[in-house]
Amino acid sequence: MATETTNLHAEVLAANAGYVASFGDKGKLALPPARAAAFIVCMDARINPAAAFGLAEGDAHVIRNAGGRASDDAIRSLVISHKLLGTKEWFVVHHTDCGMEYFKSEELAKLLETSLATANIVPLESAPKGVTFENASAEGGSHDGHAVHWLHIDDQEASVREDVAKIVGHSLTAPGIPVHGYIYHVATGAIQHVVTQVTA
Ligand SMILES: [Zn+2]
Repeated sequence: MATETTNLHAEVLAANAGYVASFGDKGKLALPPARAAAFIVCMDARINPAAAFGLAEGDAHVIRNAGGRASDDAIRSLVISHKLLGTKEWFVVHHTDCGMEYFKSEELAKLLETSLATANIVPLESAPKGVTFENASAEGGSHDGHAVHWLHIDDQEASVREDVAKIVGHSLTAPGIPVHGYIYHVATGAIQHVVTQVTA
């Protein structure tokens, strides 16, 4: 397979130089988030949390992972966010057409068994999204994927409710923190409220 070379590294450096040139007085921002908020958001490249939720540097913690799931590590961040940095309101944002709906956790573990390389997307009518993944080669993978909680998503609304409930019920989350669950629509940029619970 041909390796495509890009100028991405150079582009990132150039973009940063531009950012530094217009950085202004942001170096004076306080470490604790000014708006005392934390967001867990999917890593999806189409979502720009700062633009979509009206956040500037210094405003909020944004924890991103595949699916925007309340994984053990995301909750680790939330606990630090509140306990040490004073956030008082939390948001969980999943979204439409999430990559996490395109596979089941056991399927991913199985794919990783024979290859770690990027899989091909192939049509499969019986799959929920009409596609599945197939390894392009079998150059040797790893069984360790079976030990990972991949947290795939079957239903966006259910996954939002599940994650909000997990956060609210966690032994390390302090009482009295509102946790809002949302679905972000990638077709419009709109966020749809699903649930709000307060930590007990
Ligand atoms: Zn996603």
